[in-house]
Amino acid sequence: MFKLDDYREFISAETISEIKNLAQKLSGKKIVMVNSTNRGGGVAEILNSLVPLLNQVGVDVEWRVITGDESFFGVTKKMHNALQGEQTEFSDLEKKLYLETNKVFAADNDFSVYDLVVIHDPQPLPLVEFARTSVKQPWIFRLHIDVTDPVVKAWDFVKSYIGKYNEMIISHEDFRKPDLPIPQRVIAPAINALSEKNRDLPDGLINQKLAEHSIALDKPILIQVSRFDKWKDPIGVIRVFEKVKARFDCQLILLGALADDDPEGQEIYDQVQKFLQKSQYKDDVKIILFHDSILTNALQRVSTVAIQKSVREGFGLIISESMFKKTPVVASNVGGIKTQIADGINGFLHEPADIEGFADDILKLLEDKALRDKMGEAGRRHVIEHFLMPRLMLNWLNLFNQYLSNG
Ligand code: UDP
Repeated sequence: MFKLDDYREFISAETISEIKNLAQKLSGKKIVMVNSTNRGGGVAEILNSLVPLLNQVGVDVEWRVITGDESFFGVTKKMHNALQGEQTEFSDLEKKLYLETNKVFAADNDFSVYDLVVIHDPQPLPLVEFARTSVKQPWIFRLHIDVTDPVVKAWDFVKSYIGKYNEMIISHEDFRKPDLPIPQRVIAPAINALSEKNRDLPDGLINQKLAEHSIALDKPILIQVSRFDKWKDPIGVIRVFEKVKARFDCQLILLGALADDDPEGQEIYDQVQKFLQKSQYKDDVKIILFHDSILTNALQRVSTVAIQKSVREGFGLIISESMFKKTPVVASNVGGIKTQIADGINGFLHEPADIEGFADDILKLLEDKALRDKMGEAGRRHVIEHFLMPRLMLNWLNLFNQYLSNG
């Protein structure tokens, strides 16, 4: 069980009191959050920590996961892709399936017991139409994806539902939409310093995890931890590795699990494997398809450089996780990543297509321990200051109080 008081090492006593005060004002109120998976991907990662921590300070928050079949998640992944800018069309049948699944979930779940509802991402977005029990019940839409340049038709479709909410929450200023009739607020996601994913690990446990996956530390490790998703560009990461490897002996690890709400994962994984087989450096690349928070934690700690070569990114939790462990990150200069990394200070940023740029800065880091240490320290400080759970709790508690405060 996570406890806010255990955050004393990272945040001030005043912040802890402020959180507890805001929580107290919500006594008797019931809140629910809905998303589309309890495992795999950033939203599940956040809710697995945020919901227990809010409950621990006395706020009654429930978490529900929308259920649907494979074809529903096929449609919602397509929608996710279109909102991130991939040209794609939706048939009437697909739209019908999307709405029907939401309708069935609304009928099976009683939302009248809640004083406030938070819906995460497009999968359960239309619930506002089918499950809202009174116009007075605030509904908040939390969009986690990068909507810098969505396909217009797809945006217009989701916009008609987002407009029914009281407010939309996004991860970066760039995602504000001038054509929405509701208020929009930026709240940055956060990581849990106390979780298995992020807490300090004893050397014995790190070594055990490395041994379980036959990982040797004889060469520096470059790593990208990500779902197997085209937006994370895993093949681009191998291309970058090939450039680096030609000049500096190192190894690459791609670690990724499959998420229940992302049916494309297996296909992308297969494409990556196929691409890798043609690489002259394939013996120094390890692809691990596995879900294990302690393994992720251990690998983020022993890696020399973390890569996040996303083409679009709402906010890369994975980047904060690496920076918190003092592992410098070389990432794409897109979406929410721009608030996470200050280029040249606590990491490096490049345009997603700039393979050479990625490779050059990775080499700089491989060759210069003092630079790694300096960036590692700066990165950890940045995450502690801006992107830990208590800050996220404060932001949500302020929002809840704005709508529900007992005074
Ligand atoms: N993650 C994980 N194992 C994996 C891949 C990802 O535990 O194999 C976690 C990762 O540690 C992070 C989250 O999933 O907490 C990914 O969040 P991010 O915001 O980086 O990307 P998203 O998947 O939400 O697009």
